[in-house]
Amino acid sequence: MITINMEIPEVSACEESRCAYNVDQSCHARAITVGDGVNPMCDTFFSSATHAHNTRRIAGVGACKVGPCKYNDDFECLADHVRIETPNGAARCMTFAA
Ligand code: SF4
Repeated sequence: MITINMEIPEVSACEESRCAYNVDQSCHARAITVGDGVNPMCDTFFSSATHAHNTRRIAGVGACKVGPCKYNDDFECLADHVRIETPNGAARCMTFAA
C-alpha cells in the first residue's frame, strides 16, 4: 500500500441511488473515473443491491477521460468539486463544461 497525499475534486453529490457506492445521495468510492473520452458519464458506476458500508469517506475524482471539458488538464479534473446527476437515467457529471 502507498499513502497518497494530493488534492482532488470532491464528488459533492450523486443522484444515482442504484450504484453500489451510493448511500444517501453521496458517493463513497475512494475515487471515481469520469467519461469515455466524449461523454462525462460516471465510469465507476455499477448497479448493486448491496451498498457501501464505509460512509465516512466521500469520493474524489481520480481521473477524467473527457479532454474537451474546460476543467480537464492532462485527463485530470481541476474543478473544486463535481456533481453527478441522472438527467437521462445514467450517472453524468454535471460540472462538465465544453
Ligand atoms: S459518482 Fe459514480 S460511483 Fe459514485 S455513487 Fe455516483 S454513480 Fe456511483
